Amino acid sequence: MLQGKTALVTGSTSGIGLGIAEALAAQGANIVLNGFGEPSAISDLQQRLQATYGIQVLYHAADMSKPEEIADMMAQAQRELTGIDILVNNAGIQHVANVEDFPLEKWDAILAINLSAVFHTTRLAIPYMKQKNWGRIINIASVHGLVASAQKSAYVAAKHGVIGFTKAVALETAQTGITSNAICPGWVLTPLVQRQVDDRAAKESVSLEEAKKRLLAEKQPSQEFVDPAQLGALAIFLCSAAADQVRGVAWNMDGGWMAQ
Ligand code: NAD
Repeated sequence: MLQGKTALVTGSTSGIGLGIAEALAAQGANIVLNGFGEPSAISDLQQRLQATYGIQVLYHAADMSKPEEIADMMAQAQRELTGIDILVNNAGIQHVANVEDFPLEKWDAILAINLSAVFHTTRLAIPYMKQKNWGRIINIASVHGLVASAQKSAYVAAKHGVIGFTKAVALETAQTGITSNAICPGWVLTPLVQRQVDDRAAKESVSLEEAKKRLLAEKQPSQEFVDPAQLGALAIFLCSAAADQVRGVAWNMDGGWMAQ
């Protein structure tokens, strides 16, 4: 379905971004990978996607907190793969602390990576999408873009910002073939969440399995984690013609979290 299109997935060396990149690759899109990790593991991933799906795969190591590195990545994608047709803003970090104890550098990093980077990639992608009169901007927000949890002030502020930004871009592009939407996952068992499971197990002196159960029981009625492949399938739907008029939505996939 996506042959000839190019998709940039920020933060695609792990977790949800990797799941979405794989789903887009399986539909034939060329992929720009981004994110941190072992160079050999990233190179293996790049080669595996190329060989499995017969697509082109670029990797750019842009630090999403640095606007000039983002600009360099967008320019390289334009030069080598004729621009970004599908932009998945996924890179994100978390830090858990009460507001009065929140380290300033963590606040700045979360706002830069989880929110400002979405502005920088989007502002640089839209001119090329406009030339083709087609584009998909998919922002991986969170249920924390819709409701809050204690001790996540920076993350909640950034993710609420992402949803507002998604809607503003949807209005600016409403009369074009470009759509802008957000996906709001509940708990997904990725390294970002595993760190919270580990902390909880240590704090409450319980096993990792018990810590996972407690984490889910608190917020996610299905008591099951969302799978990155399920989020990939939703991203594919948003890229389809059936979703041409899906604009400015924040679509949760959260095991019932938001139904409470
Ligand atoms: P993860 O830690 O598994 O992956 C994060 C990715 O972002 C990695 O590839 C990492 O290298 C990359 N990254 C981090 N900082 C970066 C930077 N400065 N520059 C470039 N890349 C950077 O996390 P995940 O759980 O897969 O999270 C992905 C997105 O999904 C995040 O935006 C997160 O907020 C969101 N999300 C996650 C969950 C969840 O339960 N895991 C729920 C809702 C939303």
